[in-house]
Amino acid sequence: MSEVPILKETTRSTGREALRNNITAAMALAGAVRTTLGPLGQDKLLIDDEGRTLVTNDGVTVLESAKVEHPVAKMLINASTTQDRIARDGTTSAVLLSAELLQNAWELVLQGVHPSAIARGYRLAEDACRAHFDQLVIDATPERQRHAARTSLAGKIHETMQHHLAELALEAAQAIQEERPSGVVVDPTRVKILTQTGGSMTDSRLVTGLVLAKKRVIDSMPKHLKSGKIALVDGGLERRELMSSVKLNVTNTGVLEQFRQQEKAMLLEQVDHLVSLGVTLLACKEGIDDDLHGALSDAGIQAYRRVARADLDLLARGTNATLNHDIGGLTKRDLGVFISSRNERWNGVMHWIVETEEGGATFIAKGSTNETVGEVVRCFADALGVACQLLEEPSLLPGGGATQIALARHLRRFAEGFAGREQLAIEAFADALEVIPRVLAQNAGLDPLDSLLQTVAQQSTAEDGQGHFIGMNIVEKGPANMVEKGIVEPLRITRQVLAGATEAALSVLRIDDVLWAKQDPTVPDMPESDDES
Ligand code: ADP
Ligand code: MG
Repeated sequence: MSEVPILKETTRSTGREALRNNITAAMALAGAVRTTLGPLGQDKLLIDDEGRTLVTNDGVTVLESAKVEHPVAKMLINASTTQDRIARDGTTSAVLLSAELLQNAWELVLQGVHPSAIARGYRLAEDACRAHFDQLVIDATPERQRHAARTSLAGKIHETMQHHLAELALEAAQAIQEERPSGVVVDPTRVKILTQTGGSMTDSRLVTGLVLAKKRVIDSMPKHLKSGKIALVDGGLERRELMSSVKLNVTNTGVLEQFRQQEKAMLLEQVDHLVSLGVTLLACKEGIDDDLHGALSDAGIQAYRRVARADLDLLARGTNATLNHDIGGLTKRDLGVFISSRNERWNGVMHWIVETEEGGATFIAKGSTNETVGEVVRCFADALGVACQLLEEPSLLPGGGATQIALARHLRRFAEGFAGREQLAIEAFADALEVIPRVLAQNAGLDPLDSLLQTVAQQSTAEDGQGHFIGMNIVEKGPANMVEKGIVEPLRITRQVLAGATEAALSVLRIDDVLWAKQDPTVPDMPESDDES
């Protein structure tokens, strides 16, 4: 058993060498997004295989589009993607922090500290930060919620739009909040996004209810319905297609006609069934046979066909209806209720607007080009993410690096309670947290070290008990009270950045053996984007 066959075709790096390669990869990745952090961060121009372009300063977008092959870099990208999923923001910070934690770990390894001791210290430090959040949080008053939504848009879109989108996001979040036994739940996917190219982005607006760019099947159907019952069909009201293996031997012309009539009668029975249930609004995923339009219209039903599955789901959530494939089998319990359903022509396009008890809202994103509409949609989603989180967990932390500096100060005191190597690791964690204020300062053209030292000094000498509010005011280029300046962020984002970055760093520290299949064993940094598959 001297030669393990599976290792024949591999190159292996172990121990320190493996760790060094992995950390180099993490640093390279952080380098790619470093300059995008903060409102004065720079944009990146992304170009895909087909030459399509996107200008963004969103960390996770940059990372997800990069063709990264190094497994450790991929782990960090995963951390950033998780951050995006859970908190919708803080993606750049998560990558910067995990890379910094690794860089500092490496310095300790060089001094002879074993990675497992570092990992222990890092865990202790993260727990200590979590426990300290209580001392730092402030209540998310409505005014501060507005500030937080705007902070999430800083540097991404011009100021008038920041204000506008922040208001709309808060309003939308209110419209979709649900009271559950476990507490308030606000799911941003309940807001429908409708895009319209043309006009100014400042015309973007929020409409109560669900809006679909659809018209009712025929004009003779009612244009406006006041409250009633809705049926949602996960199929259609159509003649079944004959299976190709079935042969119909038509011996006399009447047979085919009879067959058609029978089918029509069966479909009409389904319409009768809907009428008997008292349905006045119908939405189908597939088609509705032409032969039925008249009957539906006569029954006073407003019907829609080819409604996208995602829209049917939103309708189901808003009306409490259940999606059903078989109309014949529909019962009263499957039906939902709506407050109103109407058709309106906007810029020459018919729209269907449904208002329901359960709320729901539609954001209409406008812009002169597809690119600007896309930008408006992305920004709205960011602000909506913040607004939803704040309804679920109404706690905020000061931004602009203030919280990270306060946590680092706390950790340095906390570290004194430990001896030896763990103390070193906790201090290394504290130093790593300061990457956020340092990079914010750097991206604003300030000296990172001077700015950091000034801010730390002001935090520690503040006598009003609000030292931890002091962060980098990168617009006025000096330390300032972030809460007064309205630069605040949901606790959930900062807490998740910390958790995700620590987790990613720890999983890299645990690796001491890397086996590369066949070629190209050493690519520690991001390879050029030549796809050879
Ligand atoms: P991320 O992807 O990590 O969210 P961003 O580019 O959105 O990265 O930058 C977020 C950071 O910018 C946060 O630390 C936030 O506190 C900070 N920030 C936002 N606005 C300001 C401001 N006006 N002054 C200082 N820092 C700010
Ligand atoms: Mg952000």
